[in-house]
Amino acid sequence: MAFRASNATKSSNVASVNVKHVDPENRKRPPVKAPSKDLPFLAKSAAEGPLEELATTANQLFQEAKTQLEQSGNIKATIKETLIECLSGLYTIALRLNDKAPCPVVQTAPVADFAKEVLEEIRKQSDLVVAARTDMGAVRETVEKLNDDINKNTLGGISYAAMAATTKSEKTSFSQPERVHSLIVSSVDAHDTSDDVIVKIRTAVSAKISGLRVDRLRKVRDQKVVLGCQTQEELAKVADKLRSGNPTLLIEEKANKDPLIIIKNVLSYNTDEDITGALKNQNAHLLAGIPEGNYRAVVRYRRKARNPLECHAVLQVSPSVWQNLTQAGKVHVDLQRVQVEDQSPLIQCTRCLSYGHGRKLCTEAADQCSHCTGPHLRRDCPHWMAGEKATCRNCQAAKLDKLDHDAFDKECPIRKKWDRLARLSVAYC
Ligand SMILES: [Zn+2]
Ligand SMILES: [Zn+2]
Ligand SMILES: [Zn+2]
Repeated sequence: MAFRASNATKSSNVASVNVKHVDPENRKRPPVKAPSKDLPFLAKSAAEGPLEELATTANQLFQEAKTQLEQSGNIKATIKETLIECLSGLYTIALRLNDKAPCPVVQTAPVADFAKEVLEEIRKQSDLVVAARTDMGAVRETVEKLNDDINKNTLGGISYAAMAATTKSEKTSFSQPERVHSLIVSSVDAHDTSDDVIVKIRTAVSAKISGLRVDRLRKVRDQKVVLGCQTQEELAKVADKLRSGNPTLLIEEKANKDPLIIIKNVLSYNTDEDITGALKNQNAHLLAGIPEGNYRAVVRYRRKARNPLECHAVLQVSPSVWQNLTQAGKVHVDLQRVQVEDQSPLIQCTRCLSYGHGRKLCTEAADQCSHCTGPHLRRDCPHWMAGEKATCRNCQAAKLDKLDHDAFDKECPIRKKWDRLARLSVAYC
């Protein structure tokens, strides 16, 4: 300051003494303005003041710097110092603002990375939830099965010791269904409907008078009727009565179908031929005594297993093969010893959940939930995930009272009814 003052005095002295030699430009220049007394306060405010005042402080510092700069012909040391001080204040503000509110341009990449990480984590968690849900479904099925087994054992009054003591032949998991021997009856008159055929059968058999015992009559495709009796002898008598009673009726024997077995968790690389070959060659001890003419085994279809490398193979086999294998419970297939069980011939649609047709022939537009009847798959069902009670779509449609089971539940009364019907035309022995 002292230097500047003396310098100014010197200049004026020079001006007053040597007026003629003074540069006109220099003469127009206003006197050097002293730096603001607020400068130390502004620097302190920049470093410690409230954030909302920083903009004002920054502006004041800028003005100060500008003023000092404007009056510098050749920058003097003091001006330089002031400028540095102001700029230092601005720098401090810039640093603090940077800490408080990250600049979007600089931070874009880290923010994007962070969002990516969060999304990745959400994806991982979502995969875990799906896996947990699948596991939960399997656990629930196992628990339900165990419950069933316990109930059956309790109801049957069978203790564990008694169960363990039973021989293989007594342990047949599946009770023999009633067997029906059937005829297919149609009319030579193409105009006759299946109802007309039924009227003709009723008149011809005149069961109330003849005493013949027909167990069931069922309309089938092409205006035909299936007639069933409990024994072959009874069926033969009914056939005779029909032939003599109404010559316009056509009678064909209806052979019962071979039953089904399911071989569980077979490695999928096995071809159908591998499976049937292994069944016959590796399990000869189980199939001993079955004459060659009575041995039939064909893979009909495969069902998905939980392990993607495995499948459940459904085979149609002759009655004696069905008997022996369902009693054995286990068979060898290649390098595996796997479970074998009876398989119901009942077809249940996985889309609409009703019976008698498969998914490919279903006319329903959307998948129906087996747990809540909603238009979604069970794995996406909010009610199932929340552990809420199930509602059976088929029992609901039949207006039954008890609906609190899954539509695939083996104990569903509608399923049991259809299962019984489907098994009527199957020969189990
Ligand atoms: Zn369907
Ligand atoms: Zn649902
Ligand atoms: Zn049901």
